[in-house]
Amino acid sequence: MGKAVKSIKGVHDILPDDVHLWHFLETVVREVTQCYGYREIRTPILEKTELFKRSIGDVTDIVEKEMYSFEDRNGDQLSLRPENTASCVRAAIQHGLLANQQMHRLWYLGPQFRRENPQRGRYRQFWQVGAEVYGIGGPFIEAELILLSARLWHRLGLTGHVSLQVNSLGNSEDRDNYRQVLVEYLNDHIAELDEDSKRRLQSNPLRVLDSKNPSMANVVGAAPSVLDHLCSESKAHFDGLQESLAHCGVAFDVNTRLVRGLDYYSHTVFEWVTDQLGSQGTVCAGGRYDGLTEQLGASPTPGVGWALGVERLLALISDTGNAPAPPVPDVYMVLVGDQAIVSGMALAEELRLARPGWQIVTNCVGTSMKSQFKRADKSDAKVAVIVAEGEIADATVSVKLLREQTQQQTVPRAKLLDVLDGIFG
Ligand code: ATP
Ligand code: MG
Repeated sequence: MGKAVKSIKGVHDILPDDVHLWHFLETVVREVTQCYGYREIRTPILEKTELFKRSIGDVTDIVEKEMYSFEDRNGDQLSLRPENTASCVRAAIQHGLLANQQMHRLWYLGPQFRRENPQRGRYRQFWQVGAEVYGIGGPFIEAELILLSARLWHRLGLTGHVSLQVNSLGNSEDRDNYRQVLVEYLNDHIAELDEDSKRRLQSNPLRVLDSKNPSMANVVGAAPSVLDHLCSESKAHFDGLQESLAHCGVAFDVNTRLVRGLDYYSHTVFEWVTDQLGSQGTVCAGGRYDGLTEQLGASPTPGVGWALGVERLLALISDTGNAPAPPVPDVYMVLVGDQAIVSGMALAEELRLARPGWQIVTNCVGTSMKSQFKRADKSDAKVAVIVAEGEIADATVSVKLLREQTQQQTVPRAKLLDVLDGIFG
């Protein structure tokens, strides 16, 4: 036997004991997005590398060092998607969703790939849920997207465990003006910058504010504020967002150091953060990206959206005691003897047909009554239905409540459904 093959570092299996947590989140996401009129879009995992170079930007961490890129057999440069916004915009352009002032509210769910240093809350394959809106400018749709995310936290039992930070980067002119002021400031403090920040100062200076290095905290803290460099229109936009959030009862803090790593943001940017997940504390992040459609070769169209990290959110759900219990069987069928297995499996089919919502597990191994009852108990099922060889001729079965000390009860097969209905209400 050769050595067993294992999964790749930073890439994880989701095992049956945990999958109900994923289902819980996915169900809530489907219900909440539906309740706001957002429609699902599914884009490919594999895209042309150029898509991400043009959208995310050549000098971002993602494109510089985190993408899984390779040459296809015909020489095309392909990448596993590191995020989903670029793909959504590509799909929207390609299928004419942006033509004639259309408006679209979309959401997605799927795995993303980045070659980062794996640690808790940071993986190489991780899942995101995202929401994107096209064709609607102004602050109110940004507020709606934030309200949608807040509704998710509410439904997931996380209200109070996450808090909202907002900022504005202004329009591209404001951003250019601010960039100059910031570069001047950072040059004056060059001795205090770490290597990463010195590099970013050249390529992408706003990202210096995004530094997670504690030794950079002072320089970043004293940097000029982007909000002092917004034109009156951009200020009004940001005021509109804040007013709208306040009016809908969503608490927030303005964080002038919040910039977001990607090149395509303008005006509003925001993050939902928690202090309960250590340094991987951002669970959801987003903002406006009006310039992106043009970068991808279409006419300018307003765009705004967010993405949340599913693994981080699930960790928070578990850590805060909000995880739902895994589903257990409603009925465990104890089948003693070959004839009873055949007969019991047919009975289980009748029950599944009559009550599709019930989970009915059959023991079709033919072991002793005692060992089957052990498995029934272990399964956490509420009820055992026992089919014994001797009872087949009389067309009776036995019913036992597994979590109570009551006696086993013999019932006619034809009455079983009524008896079970009585138990499950
Ligand atoms: P960070 O600053 O933590 O690296 P980011 O700015 O790179 O995050 P985005 O690209 O905005 O993250 O992705 C949105 C969300 O997806 C993040 O807030 C986070 O919850 C999640 N996320 C991003 N990268 C990872 C990862 N490598 N593993 C797990 N979740 C991630
Ligand atoms: Mg990152």
